[in-house]
Amino acid sequence: MKKTPFENYKRNLDRAAALLKLRPSEVTRLQTPDRILRGSIKLKTSKGVKTFPAYRVQFNNARGPYKGGIRFHPDADLDEVKALAAAMAVKCAVVGIPMGGGKGGVALDPKVFSKEDLARVARQWVRLMAKYIGVDKDVPAPDVYTNASTMAVMLDEFEKIAKRSEPGAFTGKPRSVGGSLGRDKATGQGGAFILLDLVKEMKLKPEDLTVAIQGFGNVGYFMAKILHDAGFRIVAVSDSKGGIYNAAGLVPDEVLEAKEKTGAVTGYKKPGTEAVTNEELLETTCDILVPAALDGVITEANAAGIRARVIVEMANGPTTPEADEILRNKKMVVVPDVLANAGGVTVSYFEWVQNKTGLSWTEEEVDRKLKEIMGTAFREVYAFHRAHDISLRDAAFAIAIERIVTAMRDRGEGAEDK
Ligand code: NAD
Repeated sequence: MKKTPFENYKRNLDRAAALLKLRPSEVTRLQTPDRILRGSIKLKTSKGVKTFPAYRVQFNNARGPYKGGIRFHPDADLDEVKALAAAMAVKCAVVGIPMGGGKGGVALDPKVFSKEDLARVARQWVRLMAKYIGVDKDVPAPDVYTNASTMAVMLDEFEKIAKRSEPGAFTGKPRSVGGSLGRDKATGQGGAFILLDLVKEMKLKPEDLTVAIQGFGNVGYFMAKILHDAGFRIVAVSDSKGGIYNAAGLVPDEVLEAKEKTGAVTGYKKPGTEAVTNEELLETTCDILVPAALDGVITEANAAGIRARVIVEMANGPTTPEADEILRNKKMVVVPDVLANAGGVTVSYFEWVQNKTGLSWTEEEVDRKLKEIMGTAFREVYAFHRAHDISLRDAAFAIAIERIVTAMRDRGEGAEDK
């Protein structure tokens, strides 16, 4: 039987716990969310009023307020939201930002509803959770099928209920209501900083390296553009409709133009470009593979066929634990999602800091601070992986869990169990 996302988190936690020699009570605590909030959202449809489950999981706030996105997706269920909330606690700890982990969701298919209906869903979600949300309590952000506009609507509803201005209660907002410069490209930029440090560590040069990227949305496009500008050769990209391959290299901005005109990256028709399926893209000949679309795409069925030397997990959870085992045995370098895509939450944290202080940073300032944070996190994870001869994923988890547990111990949590 396949493990659920939360069981996968527990598997990674168990490995970290063994390495760190955690007390059983601490492991139990890290397997248990602080609070699970659930409710129902009602929407009038042509077939009558329908009800959709809504969730917020507040996983752990030992290091700071709960932080994490809200997704609108038919598959959003409690197990998945719990796993993503735990991953947020780990991610914030890996990059050392003073926030905890949370996640939210509404189980509906956003594609069948109008923008106005989805705004109603957003407002109802806030009405259900408002008591538990806030700048120093729990700070949501966009996730799958929610965006900056969703956050603006949520903030508006929240402030109406709270009867005060509190822009730092949500991040990933539009600039007009306190969003940060540099948030759009933050996740791709953060991943690019990590990859540049890694190739330097491996004594490789960007000019000699080819990259294949699955997904050409926010993360995939910015990653492609930034890596292309840094000298890497982007040989393949894809979206939900399929992919393209060009051995001589693709220009991401030209691909974006074709996608905007035709609705798909396969609309890019420059000579030497051939169509590939999303499955073929994963096994394409390249040095660096970047899954930047969906979870669970690298599986035991295709892991052995992956030819890249390095995988940079920009999507959340793109590698199943079974595939991870295969990649570990192949000694493949896998930069785990909790490190690779942490640039997004890091700039969300910058937005929160700016909102709390009333300041507005320049894009250069945001980039410089992001580079510093990602660079430090990479050096710490890389050194730990070398020192203990463990994977980068295990190293990232161990560092993060150690930081969370230290905060719990410093607060005196569990003292009665000693
Ligand atoms: P997005 O919606 O902007 O883009 C998703 C891309 O994936 C699109 O190009 C879409 O066409 C493509 N896609 C969808 N189904 C596909 C399929 N079956 N095969 C190949 N491609 C497919 O989303 P995003 O914000 O770029 O997020 C991508 C991933 O990165 C997600 O896993 C998300 O959780 C993760 N992530 C995003 C951020 C962020 O700041 N946006 C931060 C951390 C992690």
